[in-house]
Amino acid sequence: MLSASFVCGAFCHGTVNADTTPDASGFVDEIFTAIAGEVPDTAKVTNIKAALEDGSITGIEAAHRIVFSTEGFNANRDDETFIESMKNAANNDLSSLMGLPTFIFFGELENLTREDVFEWYVSTHGFQQLCVDYGIDPGEYGDGNFTDPEAPMIALTFDDGPSQYTDMILDCLEEYGQHATFFVVGYNAVDYMDQIARADYIGCEIGNHTAGHANLTTLDTVGIFQQLRRVDKYIYMATGHNATVIRPPYGAFNDNVRLVAQAPLVLWNVDTQDWETRDTQSTIDNIMNTVQDGDIVLMHDIYESTAEAMLTVIPELTAQGYQLVTMSEIAEGRGGMEPGGAYYRFRQLDEI
Ligand code: ZN
Repeated sequence: MLSASFVCGAFCHGTVNADTTPDASGFVDEIFTAIAGEVPDTAKVTNIKAALEDGSITGIEAAHRIVFSTEGFNANRDDETFIESMKNAANNDLSSLMGLPTFIFFGELENLTREDVFEWYVSTHGFQQLCVDYGIDPGEYGDGNFTDPEAPMIALTFDDGPSQYTDMILDCLEEYGQHATFFVVGYNAVDYMDQIARADYIGCEIGNHTAGHANLTTLDTVGIFQQLRRVDKYIYMATGHNATVIRPPYGAFNDNVRLVAQAPLVLWNVDTQDWETRDTQSTIDNIMNTVQDGDIVLMHDIYESTAEAMLTVIPELTAQGYQLVTMSEIAEGRGGMEPGGAYYRFRQLDEI
């Protein structure tokens, strides 16, 4: 994981030259060429240029889309080639090399994600200077919102965990720079606090699936409150905050549940049936044959077959240009969510 020394210090903080007229098109073309080693297909980068031009994204956000989305150049490369591309894009100048983290220098790649390498790249003098040259505000890495609400996105969701298979899914999400939402139950949360903390750390969202997988419609308001609160306690211990979304077990809710819920209720519109089939290929097919922009996909991270399926689904959806996002990310820019509201999908231009 990253440490504070990752930031390369005095060299790296370019400021936008007020005399430079922002040139979004030139910036995107140069950065794409630097990373991909070839000039971009103009049609593919049009949206990135437009967003940069109207100020809705920063230089770092534009670079992220160029590196990770198929709008720009789809980083369908092995880890070594990926790192080589980013080093070349950083110009390999002296100050960039000084900022080069030792794990890249010495090729310690095991614990390194592509997101880590990207974070290093945008902190280099080479990248920051490019922003100055083209009059582009680089923005701050930590403030980056790398989700484009207009581009296709899917919310993968996992219930009933965490389990011994959750790390497999997290590894894959992390490798491809993607996110998902994990609706945890109390009796598993207590044994897998590390996985909850890790998921939260890498940008996934943690949801509440009740303490005991209760059918909330059979309980009175006090019972509902207790079922929800006992999970939040664990989530808070692992992440420093409560669950931001709730999935009622069996999808069962009523007016009492809506009233007591202090977060949005998230249902689904694509049911993989993974709990029933426990079959990797069937789970893959149920997603790949039906999934569309804005879908919420129901799965369970307590089955090895589901985790195995993710090793195919996550790279394939990413390669098809989908952003794999959390519930909060898919809702943002597509109508949002309210505590107690119930949400089944977030199509573009859908009425929520
Ligand atoms: Zn469940």
